[in-house]
Amino acid sequence: MQNAVAKDTTYEWGLSHGPIQSPRFGNHVEVNPLGQEKVCSFDCPYCNLGPSYMRMNQIKKEYEFPSIAEIEESTRMTLRAARANNENLNTILVSGNGDPSLYPNLSELYDMLSNVRDDIYPDASIEILTNGAKIDTRKSIDAMNKFEKIHIKLDAGSDKVLKQINTPLVRTTISQIVSTARKLENVVIQSLFVQGIMDNTTDSEVEEWVESISLVEPKEVHIYTLQQDPQVPGIKKADENRLYFISSILERKKKIKTLVVP
Ligand code: SF4
Repeated sequence: MQNAVAKDTTYEWGLSHGPIQSPRFGNHVEVNPLGQEKVCSFDCPYCNLGPSYMRMNQIKKEYEFPSIAEIEESTRMTLRAARANNENLNTILVSGNGDPSLYPNLSELYDMLSNVRDDIYPDASIEILTNGAKIDTRKSIDAMNKFEKIHIKLDAGSDKVLKQINTPLVRTTISQIVSTARKLENVVIQSLFVQGIMDNTTDSEVEEWVESISLVEPKEVHIYTLQQDPQVPGIKKADENRLYFISSILERKKKIKTLVVP
């Protein structure tokens, strides 16, 4: 496939950007190790990056990820600019155009970011987002466990809703994602709820989701919804009261701390 990755920085937000203030990550800089194309093993219909066109074997065989040196240069520039601006920084968040756990040199990426952090913002936490579907080797588990927090997506309680709401492009199930999450340390679960033609807020779905979450034993669960209705007609933001209701069930039944971001 054609690949224009990281040969220039003309694409939307490059290999790093920020700082951005958010309730979940505080004041944070985002690092995008995935380059210009969307690189993800899910194709969530609500995704604000649009559809996932590349399939996993194509990503593995043909995709040219940005190099560690390119990501380092961009991240140092962004952090130095923030420092020059006297910004306080809580988090360096590895996120970007898809699922950053697919970056092939994840351990080296962490080591580089750790050096950059120590030089410029020694108190910042280095965290990563993932859907948890392709952390399937000892190497990838060890690399993920270097991060200070791992935010794993878990939007569904049943495999049926997982298929609808996340459309995995790899073979996975809720129990596989839970089993992966149990091998990871410092896990925060992030769960996005929607209503309309897809609804993961029903009583039965929430009941199954609560049981899956309790098996993971995360440090915290972030419960949120879309910031705006997506391009796909019929998918709606979840009602704010319902989000607080879901949070109260998890806290009451399983004593797991939640953060609701309506
Ligand atoms: S896992 Fe995240 S990046 Fe991937 S399709 Fe879903 S919302 Fe988009």
